[in-house]
Amino acid sequence: MTYIVGLTGGIGSGKSAASAWFEQQNIVVVDADVVAREVVEIGQPTLVEIQRQFGKWVLEPSGALNRTALREYIFQYPEARKQLEAITHPAIRQSIIQQLTQAQSPYVILVSPLLFETKQHLMCQRSLLIDVPIALQLDRASQRDGQSRAQIERIIATQMSRKDKQQLADDIVDNSADLAQLYQQLQPLHQTYLRQSQLLDN
Ligand code: ATP
Repeated sequence: MTYIVGLTGGIGSGKSAASAWFEQQNIVVVDADVVAREVVEIGQPTLVEIQRQFGKWVLEPSGALNRTALREYIFQYPEARKQLEAITHPAIRQSIIQQLTQAQSPYVILVSPLLFETKQHLMCQRSLLIDVPIALQLDRASQRDGQSRAQIERIIATQMSRKDKQQLADDIVDNSADLAQLYQQLQPLHQTYLRQSQLLDN
């Protein structure tokens, strides 16, 4: 059985930075955001179903998903978000499970910004929250993407609150200092996950 650690945190919290460190320790990382993009690529049944339910306007002339149009639409109509997620979440889940079970490493990391919101934590043995204050999320995400602070605040508002995530997570890492301090906190957790995955194997 594969020991799965779900890694989460809000936008700009440092999930990619933490995942990259785990990859350096030869731990396979499956990224739910990457899978979410894969399942709506041209030719995928999920994209066909989105078009069937929402209409042709969701597609670019090339046939690819018009992400900007769809994002704006679901921001405006919360019911449409639920309708879209009812199509995408099962497909994402199935593909994640496939990739996780094929992975060849002592344990695997599932990195997902919406781990708890989408209940993906239920397929994990353990969850790890990369935690930073909202002010830092705004600073780091706006510096990285050139997105306005208002846009990032809007995204934060759609994500579960920091407090709720802190309550749900098994492990919490504080990423408000520098990267060296992030890695220092990840090291003992890596040892714990190695030990626990071995127990699961035996
Ligand atoms: P998203 O959900 O938006 O993909 P994320 O949680 O993956 O974000 P990262 O991309 O890892 O976050 O980090 C956001 C930005 O902050 C990046 O530019 C990253 O280099 C920087 N960063 C992350 N951790 C630290 C840190 N401890 N010190 C300084 N900069 C950091």
